[in-house]
Amino acid sequence: MADRLAGKVAVITGGASGIGAACARRFADEGADIVIADLDAARAADTIAAVEASGRRARFVRTDTSVEADNEALAAATVEAFGRVDCLVAAAGIANADYVSGQDTGATGPRDILRVPVADWERVMAVNLTGVMLTDRAIAAAMIAAGNGGAIVNIASSAAAIPLRGGGDYCVSKAGVWMLTKVLALELVGHDIRVNAIGPGFIETPMTEVMRSDPAGETLMKRMTPMRRLGRAEEIASTALFLVSEDSSYLTGQLLFPNGGMFTG
Ligand code: NAP
Repeated sequence: MADRLAGKVAVITGGASGIGAACARRFADEGADIVIADLDAARAADTIAAVEASGRRARFVRTDTSVEADNEALAAATVEAFGRVDCLVAAAGIANADYVSGQDTGATGPRDILRVPVADWERVMAVNLTGVMLTDRAIAAAMIAAGNGGAIVNIASSAAAIPLRGGGDYCVSKAGVWMLTKVLALELVGHDIRVNAIGPGFIETPMTEVMRSDPAGETLMKRMTPMRRLGRAEEIASTALFLVSEDSSYLTGQLLFPNGGMFTG
């Protein structure tokens, strides 16, 4: 590995699992110290150990990203621990209101827009959209105060651009992240903070575990993907690394789609 993030400090929400965890490991390999912001410290232990094994410092900050005060405390704890913050990956997210990562929670209730309970809709928005906004602005404020610029990467989804029947709450929340990214990129450009987003296709993480364990679900995901395979979390981490590194120094307000070619036809 290279040292593309040497001397940098990266905050990663949802960093205990899946895409966020892969980002934490990859960024540490590239020289960054890492703050993992997630709900459950125990689930972050392996990732914290991996970061430390690569010679970098790691902290866990218990954060519910849908709670404004938690995001502000996260920014303060990061600056207190490491003196600065340079990169953010906002990866915390849920697939639906009942989502618990990797578990089949029996989410068989009505999900289409005509029948989805308002409370479920609002829960998905609170985590996937408002939560990303709250993390972005708390960390951006710390970046502005430090005066070193920075790079923010929001994890949206290819579902920001593809309507999924029964997934209206998720699709709309991710489309919101896409526009949030563009507005924030404009608002922060004068502070030398770049803001971009990633719209993964189907990725092998706990979020797709239930669907992958069902042959019909596996077939559907592969049929929607011209490469005929799911992506790996490490492939999304590579895209995130590009977006936080100097390799993308002229890129802001963009959504990149590592999705195995979903939008080719
Ligand atoms: P994952 O393995 O389930 O990881 C999501 C992480 O976010 C978990 O550690 C989860 O904690 C945490 N989290 C959930 N709600 C949170 C909250 N309110 N505050 C703080 N942390 C919270 O799923 P993933 O696939 O890596 O998903 C990461 C992001 O990629 C999500 O935004 C997802 O929508 C997006 N994405 C995933 C795919 C895919 O195919 N996997 C495709 C497109 C986009 P707990 O486990 O403790 O609940």
